Amino acid sequence: MTTKTIPADKLRTWLEQLIASGPVFAPQRDEDGFLAFAEIRDPEQVILEFGNTVAPAKALFFPRSEALFELRDLGDVPQIEDNLPPDRPWVLFGARLCDTKGLALLDLLFQDAEPDPYYTRRRQTCTVIALTCVEPQLECFCESSVQALSEPEGADIVLTPLEGRFLVEALTEKGEQLLADASASTEPSGGLFADATDEDAQAKQELVARVAEAQVRRISFDGIRDRVAERHEDEDFWRAETRACVGCGICTFLCPTCSCFDIMDDAIGSEGRRYRCWDSCQFGQFCLEASGHDPRAEQWQRQRNRIGHKLYYSVDRLGRITCVGCGRCIRHCPVNIDISRIIGQLQSERKPEEAPAEE
Ligand code: SF4
Ligand code: SF4
Repeated sequence: MTTKTIPADKLRTWLEQLIASGPVFAPQRDEDGFLAFAEIRDPEQVILEFGNTVAPAKALFFPRSEALFELRDLGDVPQIEDNLPPDRPWVLFGARLCDTKGLALLDLLFQDAEPDPYYTRRRQTCTVIALTCVEPQLECFCESSVQALSEPEGADIVLTPLEGRFLVEALTEKGEQLLADASASTEPSGGLFADATDEDAQAKQELVARVAEAQVRRISFDGIRDRVAERHEDEDFWRAETRACVGCGICTFLCPTCSCFDIMDDAIGSEGRRYRCWDSCQFGQFCLEASGHDPRAEQWQRQRNRIGHKLYYSVDRLGRITCVGCGRCIRHCPVNIDISRIIGQLQSERKPEEAPAEE
């Protein structure tokens, strides 16, 4: 694995080089002041000091809504034009490690025996440059859940801010190639990188340990699959824990690993499109069957499904939990439902009525 450093004041030059080579998406403020990934034209647009974007990086690979194909000459033999993403290299710069862990998990879902061509094309053409956090947000628990800081995954390169410099670690062949190209190019980019030293590696370890320690939600995930399975039929537990839920779906839309979608057709005159757009298991009609039967007719059942997917069914299906501890579902829930609290309750093995009263 190639490990380099780049002086902090040279990052702009590297970004200029990346922008000259193809589209670069990075965190910036949108017109409403929210942090979001968007294409950058100038390194000055990139925000490096941030907690996290509102929407996860998954939205660049599995967009909120996309036209899968266009239909022309609707009639006996319509023409189909596929809308596959362009086959050209691009860069995602500055994704947090919880989000790249989420991409590694989405890879298991979207690139299984029947790979999704839209997601796969975007993943194959993108080089992901992640950015290690220097300060966690209140709701973060990525280190307890999936060791996102100490065992990064889903990125091609990890950048870690150190005193006056960044550690640059290539995790994949794609990352190695991008660094090799940058190092091989003529000045100014060729002289940007220096070989990392043991001191740089030590400084990163210390930073990661400090950030992990600063995550106040330190939760045990040991045996969590079995705890969720044991509580599956405990209606009182799920009702008590999720009573306030209004079914808005934010927790699923903003989750880096939620992947449910709906398919819709739209036709005007002789032309049409097939869309794919995000869907949510929190919506009342998500499971409604044509007969009128709804196997998850009540909100507590939908929340049980969400949490079961993250901590129980995913373990059986993928061998891993799929909550990366980004904290978005806690941060943005309008009624303060907190998955970390629910995990704590599950782990305590106490029925809600036996748990200590909240202040
Ligand atoms: S964000 Fe909160 S209120 Fe909305 S569906 Fe999720 S848990 Fe329920
Ligand atoms: S369940 Fe919540 S904390 Fe876990 S990955 Fe999804 S949004 Fe983040």
